Amino acid sequence: MREFKERIYNFCAGPAMLPTEVMKKASDEFLNYQGSGMSIMEVSHRGAIFEQVLDDSLNLLRELLSIPEDYEILFLSGGATLHFSAIPLNILKEGETADYAVTGLFAKKSFEEAQRFNPVKKIYDGSSHIFTEIPKLKDSDIHDDAVYLHITSNNTIYGCRYVEFPAVTKAPLIADMTSEILSRKIDVRRFAMIYAGAQKNIGPSGLSTVIIRKDLLGRSGRTIPMMLDYAVTAKNKSMYNTPPTYSIYIAKLIFEWIKSKGGVSTFEKLNEEKAKILYDFLDSSSLYVAPVKKADRSLMNVVFTLKDRSLEPKLLSQAEDAGLHGLEGHRTVGGFRASIYNSMPKEGIVALVEFLKEFEKKV
Ligand code: PMP
Repeated sequence: MREFKERIYNFCAGPAMLPTEVMKKASDEFLNYQGSGMSIMEVSHRGAIFEQVLDDSLNLLRELLSIPEDYEILFLSGGATLHFSAIPLNILKEGETADYAVTGLFAKKSFEEAQRFNPVKKIYDGSSHIFTEIPKLKDSDIHDDAVYLHITSNNTIYGCRYVEFPAVTKAPLIADMTSEILSRKIDVRRFAMIYAGAQKNIGPSGLSTVIIRKDLLGRSGRTIPMMLDYAVTAKNKSMYNTPPTYSIYIAKLIFEWIKSKGGVSTFEKLNEEKAKILYDFLDSSSLYVAPVKKADRSLMNVVFTLKDRSLEPKLLSQAEDAGLHGLEGHRTVGGFRASIYNSMPKEGIVALVEFLKEFEKKV
């Protein structure tokens, strides 16, 4: 591994780059949190110091996404994958069904996991076009008995997203927003539930967040593990057991950072600008190919390949040497993927485009 004296641009899909300002703040108060003489990592989760951190995190997230009071916000450990099982177990009664739109690998996983517990149905499968576009789902696509429609709002691996969320009224929407939460403005009321793993736009991996309409808590009436039961987590303010305290603290710092920059709308605008710089370049080049349908392209995960695929290892190794890290595509698809979450500055995109341009000139 090459050694760098400075921080580099990290294009990993997650765990991903976090804002340097936040990392510095965390580092400054690491040993002695606000004069307590202890690290936040060392204090009791039941004590006043951590309780304040938890309250601040919950309140900030509510403010940033304008989450209405009839929605509960939960912090859980277990990543986004935990919810692939928790959703049917919490929401569907035995034998009930729901619809799933399979627009990528994580959407497929969420469907297959739900299938283990309930007779859920797949209403869309994008595998025939290698997940390069997003369906326009309508009420006529939704089964009459579907309790909800599950979507993955941004496809982290293949790089497509719902620019418009499905305008369906027959079943409420549940969305996995792991790879785009806080990157765009959303109307929470359009969803019965939103969930996300933290390791892209929120903070460290392992933490996940759930935003759920309160009337859905306990809906299934099933006996399920306490740790999967959203009603138990809600009743105990995300502290039924010891929560991932340090991750919640970092999430609080990230939320403060987003707020200090003007909130989600600032990032939405910036993310649109950043992605446009990169896609415009890829589309104008004769070496690079961005395979996703233009109208459905992700603003967070920009996927591309080379026309001459034999050059890909060379590009990757030169990029690493230039301090542009983590550009390899997901292990299941190859090619390249630049993950450009909120923390990736515009300068990182400009540096990447410059590098890609130079590479194209040389080959
Ligand atoms: N959903 C999406 C959209 C993801 O991108 C990921 C991880 N990259 C997951 C779910 C799984 O998250 P975790 O590893 O936190 O369980």
